Amino acid sequence: MKNQEILHDEDESFASASRIKYFDMVIESGEGAILKDVEGNEYIDLLASASSTNTGHSHPHVVEAISEQAKKLIQYTPAYFANLPAAQLAKRLTDLAPIDGPAELSWGNSGSDANDALIKFARGYTGRQDVVSFTGAYHGSTYGSMSASGVSLNMNRKMGPLMSGFYKVPFPSPWYRESYETEDEFVDRMFEEFKLPFDTYLPADEVAVILIEPIQGDGGIVKAPEKYLKKVYKFAHEHGILFAIDEVNQGMGRTGKWWSIQQFDGIYPDLMTVGKSLASGLPLSAVIGKKEIIESLDAPANVYTTAGNPVTTAAAMATIDVIEDEHLLERSERLGVKSKVFFDRMKEKYNFVGDVRMYGLDGGIDIVDPKTGKSDVKVATKLIYRMFELGVIMITVRGNVLRFQPPLVITEEQLEKAFDVIDQAMDDEANGRI
Ligand code: PLP
Repeated sequence: MKNQEILHDEDESFASASRIKYFDMVIESGEGAILKDVEGNEYIDLLASASSTNTGHSHPHVVEAISEQAKKLIQYTPAYFANLPAAQLAKRLTDLAPIDGPAELSWGNSGSDANDALIKFARGYTGRQDVVSFTGAYHGSTYGSMSASGVSLNMNRKMGPLMSGFYKVPFPSPWYRESYETEDEFVDRMFEEFKLPFDTYLPADEVAVILIEPIQGDGGIVKAPEKYLKKVYKFAHEHGILFAIDEVNQGMGRTGKWWSIQQFDGIYPDLMTVGKSLASGLPLSAVIGKKEIIESLDAPANVYTTAGNPVTTAAAMATIDVIEDEHLLERSERLGVKSKVFFDRMKEKYNFVGDVRMYGLDGGIDIVDPKTGKSDVKVATKLIYRMFELGVIMITVRGNVLRFQPPLVITEEQLEKAFDVIDQAMDDEANGRI
């Protein structure tokens, strides 16, 4: 069958079922960093299914764990009885989590519901209602996680009202820094802006939690300045507010550390969420937190029948094995350095390449109008479509930022090939061929 036949069939039943966002491609299989469509075309995947397949597509060890577990037991809800892989994973994951002191967790099926759970536990434990989160953040698609999200999505307006008790403060993205400001001046100004609501209409002792992606994903792959995050962390502690992080996109080795918060010194969240690559893309997530916080709500405070299912938790155990055995943290770090060198070279070569940010294999490359330095969504879009034609999958976030999040198992040869394609696409743009 052809891609077009599936995507544009007469009654549109296929197409409406799979809502095509970017490219006319129907994926049939994947191996490592390579995707194959139904026509046999191959692509190098620099997106890793939105950072949910850090171990690569269909990693043999993960596949084996899934099939072995499926033969033994596909499902029994952890709401009533423990199952072996879920119990083993709970121990392993709470040990890995950067929580200070004993930790506990609660399972979910997606990053979105894990963030809802985080809000439930924060409110339940503190007895306070308000939630502070950041502009540009994406925390998910359920009502709680949407309410905490700061990306201005049209859908939020149409589906409102969202939940009450949610407040946004500006994320200190580099594009908000004035040209005359030093890094310290910028941090101080952004922290003053952070405090503004607390100084005016939002009593700190009514705030349950501050939730942040230490490195924003959909916000443009952008890291909060360390000094800024430390100030926010200190502020939270001083006011009895829980400090929580969303590691759904940036966790599981993406940035060269298990968790993106480990890019910062001495910050230990009270609560955190993890999902996406946790089970190499199978639906599994968790909110992990200090034991007393998770245990403060009586069951069934946060129960979904299939969450913590034996097959998904067995896949997560295998995922952690692969990350450890194949040294994927070091690999992410090393290939990230190489990728930064490449994109910096592109910045030298093409005047529409702006700021290049890279944290392990986690990159954001701004595409800008060379005359104004402002976002150029049109050129960014043209570039990713040209890359697709040439066999490389990349998408944009925030309109003009190339999102670089390949599977951590990508080979050096595949990476080099992808770089050649990116260079070619940029050259086509520079010379008016696209
Ligand atoms: N949190 C972050 C940082 C994300 O990037 C996402 C998804 O893109 C989510 C939460 C929501 O996860 P899910 O799509 O699995 O519900």
